[in-house]
Amino acid sequence: MKKHNFYAGPSILNRGVIENTASAVLDFAGTGLSVLEVSHRGKEFDAVMAEAQQLFKELLDIPEGYEVLFLGGGASLQFYMIPLNLLKKKAAYINTGTWATNAIKQAGYVDKVFGTTTEVLASSEDKNFTYIPKNFTIPEDIDYFHYTSNNTIYGTEIRKDFDCKARLVCDMSSDIFSRPIDVSKYDAIYGGAQKNLAPAGVTFVVIRKDALGQVDRPLPTMLDYNTHIKKGSMFNTPPVLPIYTALQTLKWYKELGGLKVLEKRNLEKAETLYTEIDRNKLFRGTVAEEDRSIMNVCFVMKDEYKELEPEFATFAAERGMIGIKGHRSVGGFRASLYNALELEDVKALVATMQEFEKKH
Ligand SMILES: *Cc1c(COP(=O)(O)O)cnc(C)c1O
Repeated sequence: MKKHNFYAGPSILNRGVIENTASAVLDFAGTGLSVLEVSHRGKEFDAVMAEAQQLFKELLDIPEGYEVLFLGGGASLQFYMIPLNLLKKKAAYINTGTWATNAIKQAGYVDKVFGTTTEVLASSEDKNFTYIPKNFTIPEDIDYFHYTSNNTIYGTEIRKDFDCKARLVCDMSSDIFSRPIDVSKYDAIYGGAQKNLAPAGVTFVVIRKDALGQVDRPLPTMLDYNTHIKKGSMFNTPPVLPIYTALQTLKWYKELGGLKVLEKRNLEKAETLYTEIDRNKLFRGTVAEEDRSIMNVCFVMKDEYKELEPEFATFAAERGMIGIKGHRSVGGFRASLYNALELEDVKALVATMQEFEKKH
């Protein structure tokens, strides 16, 4: 039976990308060695790193003056590195979910040690993060405004680059490469690669070089972006295999035609599933319609059918639907529709929902 992979992360990768990785695990770039056992200082891996950075810039249309880094530590380490490197006096955040909460908490540690201020402009915690707050003004006198573009757990998304005087910083872990963005508005964009790019183990950071070197606190070597910029992401051993796979994904994105094409595919997949959720008498979406994510679609059974949830979980699993259990903080179901997922996978889920509806 065909499996349809809706995991939230680590998550689906394109089949060709996996095959290319598998073949490099056996023989990397004609070296007769596995990509698992080569030096990251060798010329073959050098070429992988260089091409991955170049394609990353090309696909996102990153202007001059920015660096792309591939680091360890996950998006979760960036929650601290961002304020440590960029927060001089005051930063502003919005709280739109678990990951935003974590980012705010880490900025709080920088505040505690260095006397800076992290202001939370707005939060949607009052309604379990089911919407994106809209009534707030981004101050002008801040070092940066931080937000989470896609709330992986709750299924809300901010699909535009904020229009404001302040510089932007964004956690784009789960929607990077899902649509075009205007990188020139950002001082930093970061994320774990395990949603739309690669297997777990590598973190991408797009950083504007002019934003660095402006804090006067001492920065520990590994937590200083300039360390990694100077050494081309090879100050210490980078995650070689995930970077190799990231390059295969980036090549596939380019072959497909880039971010506009990916966005169109993603909108179509999301629309297909949301249309069914709204039509089907058993289900309902969990978040405000205008804030619905095109990457993570959260839905539950209507109150009068609530007790059918475990039955639907089994029913769907029997039809090859993998990873649709909702996060424990939302319950119900979540289907992640990352770039590598095809429309036919979504159609299979829709057909399953319709079949289940007929049964009841
Ligand atoms: C998955 C995720 C994270 C956590 O990433 P790690 O690499 O596990 O630290 C942070 N933010 C968002 C939006 C995520 O989806």
